[in-house]
Amino acid sequence: MKYKYIFEPLDIGFTTLKNRILMGSMHTGLEEEKNGIDKIATYYSERAKGGVGLIVTGGISPNIQGWTGPFAARMSTKKHAIQHQKITEAVHKEGGKICMQILHSGRYGYHPFNVAPSKIKSPITPFKPFKLTQSGIKRTIRDFVNCAKLAKTAGYDGIEIMGSEGYLINQFIVKRTNKRKDRYGGAYENRMRLAIELVKQTRQSVGEDFIIIYRLSMLDLVENGSSWEEVVQLGKEIEKAGATLINTGIGWHESRIPTIATSVPRAAFTWVTKKMKEELSIPLITSNRINMPETAEKILSEGDADIISMARPFLADPEWVNKAAQEKSDEINTCIGCNQACLDHVFQQKVASCLVNPRACHETELNYYPTENKKKIAVIGAGPAGLAAATIAAQRGHVVTLFDADKEIGGQFNIAKQIPGKEEFYETLRYFRKQIEIHNVAVKLNNTVSLTDLKKSNFDEIIIATGIKPREVNIEGINHKKVLSYIDVLKHKKAVGKRVAVIGAGGIGFDVSEYLTHEEVVTSQNIDAWLKEWGIDKTFKSRAGIENVQPAFKASSRTIFMFKRSKGKFGGNLGKTTGWIHRSSLKKKQVQFIAEVSYTKIDDQGLHYTQNQEAKILAVDNIIICAGQTSYKELYQPLLDAGKKVHVIGGAHFAAEIDAKRAINQGARLAAKL
Ligand code: FAD
Ligand code: SF4
Repeated sequence: MKYKYIFEPLDIGFTTLKNRILMGSMHTGLEEEKNGIDKIATYYSERAKGGVGLIVTGGISPNIQGWTGPFAARMSTKKHAIQHQKITEAVHKEGGKICMQILHSGRYGYHPFNVAPSKIKSPITPFKPFKLTQSGIKRTIRDFVNCAKLAKTAGYDGIEIMGSEGYLINQFIVKRTNKRKDRYGGAYENRMRLAIELVKQTRQSVGEDFIIIYRLSMLDLVENGSSWEEVVQLGKEIEKAGATLINTGIGWHESRIPTIATSVPRAAFTWVTKKMKEELSIPLITSNRINMPETAEKILSEGDADIISMARPFLADPEWVNKAAQEKSDEINTCIGCNQACLDHVFQQKVASCLVNPRACHETELNYYPTENKKKIAVIGAGPAGLAAATIAAQRGHVVTLFDADKEIGGQFNIAKQIPGKEEFYETLRYFRKQIEIHNVAVKLNNTVSLTDLKKSNFDEIIIATGIKPREVNIEGINHKKVLSYIDVLKHKKAVGKRVAVIGAGGIGFDVSEYLTHEEVVTSQNIDAWLKEWGIDKTFKSRAGIENVQPAFKASSRTIFMFKRSKGKFGGNLGKTTGWIHRSSLKKKQVQFIAEVSYTKIDDQGLHYTQNQEAKILAVDNIIICAGQTSYKELYQPLLDAGKKVHVIGGAHFAAEIDAKRAINQGARLAAKL
């Protein structure tokens, strides 16, 4: 067997986990949906069927104060427990095991009833918390214990107590958020008390044969967080208090260091779990940016952890574990860490999904059933939209021919994958290549399809997925030799000088600037270089892993000026959970942001522009145009007029720069109903 460590069962005394893969907790928004319980039951049961050893649900609050937002999911009554039976039954029917995460958000609660150890507002929520009184703390412990008991009656195999990411328990532990002077504040023994009492009392009331996972914040990544010695001390106490497993928590939500984005190297934080393994004896779970079996196997084989937690990879592919068991990792639809359809949705109060798998969290309404009416389908354009449409239509039994003018499949993903920090995009193309092979899609590359070809053809359906054209800008001197388009730079590799103006501050403008400031690419394998860049102390001599450590971004030999015409902050339209990372990375590389300008002309002197009614000239070697895109769908209307059954999807339907999520979703949904 190729992945023998992944598939080694883990005996935890009263029960055995069939393999070392745990589906980590993720709030999906289904928890609060109408008929959400039925949808969640289907969602988790597909992951159980896919072979995962243990599932941990999204966070469920033990009481109203602990809500993440208004009317968030809660378990505090028998009625709640009865509703959850549907979930546990569905998972058990597929041979899976499931724990319910108990999460009290403390001052992160996005509602006016939130509570915390001290009255200190978090930087990421507008609501100042109420300070918990001592009797309030006792009530909170009772609510946690009650919640755990109800989870047991609902049929869960255990619970996870969320003690990390800056939620309530974490807020009690560190001085940053705990200024109390009573038995829950001050000395570390006091600040740990809530966490220890919660685990102890829960163990006493649920008995020995029930899994208790404690999510321990091992690396806070915020000022005034825990020192390594404190984390170890707490870990030992939690072990003594009766936890079955300890999970690794990395970073608080308010931390300004990326912990799960695409640009974070794979397994970038496993060294933290490894360090803790020297201190504790119960099994440890590691997490963060582990998305492929090779990475998981390496961690386990080197003894750095006992269990691998992956959350988003199970949105991307519910069959991840079965595919690994069958040694078909090349068939895994890999999570690319983009956050575009999962975390970004949750932060906008929308149901989560997945950019590469639009079925995620939509299992009850989007299905790819075999067709009863086999058709001949032409897909024009092998970008993400065309690839999704072609492979899903073929999977359903249609006869599909996929055309592309280029020499390879992928469309703009072939450009995106070259951006430092977006290397995971290669995996999506590998996945689609394999799907093409499995489902026998006929691929015609180097083939620019014309209207005449299609008019003459006998396809039953034609799908136009021809993508976009870069938007042309009307500036005097636009044809000057200094001017390049982002395609010239990223695709045709034209030489770029040392002083550069980037016109346009959308996703592509940011990516081009990132590309141009990296002489030496910090690849997904180079964890130490990446940690250094962001100022993380691997020796853990610094409190919380960051205190008094300076980020060490390598200065670029290029000077980049990024321009935009509009007001407001740069990158305001980038992803909600990742925009700050792009901004922060470019700032650290001294990229200069220049807003509210109008462009006058381009000539040998450089870029002429006006700002605050003042005419200025910026001497630059090159001006790179990243000024948006327009849909490219010339084939569509004439085919429609000719009476052909024709559809238009992706960028060809609507051009929005960074929008593979919509492209793949449209392709998948169209293919599901053809
Ligand atoms: P495209 O990817 O543009 O594919 C269209 C295809 O049609 C091309 O391969 C083209 O050759 C082919 N074609 C056109 N005309 C014909 C014809 N007549 N005959 C045959 N073939 C034809 N999106 C995200 O969601 N997240 C990101 O992080 C992200 N980063 C990006 C970074 C960069 C630098 C760029 C350029 C884009 C990025 N995108 C990102 C955008 C994403 O790649 C697009 O949203 C997506 O590719 C659109 O898919 P599509 O299939 O509609 O079109
Ligand atoms: Fe992973 Fe992106 Fe899908 Fe989220 S949306 S699960 S980050 S691929």
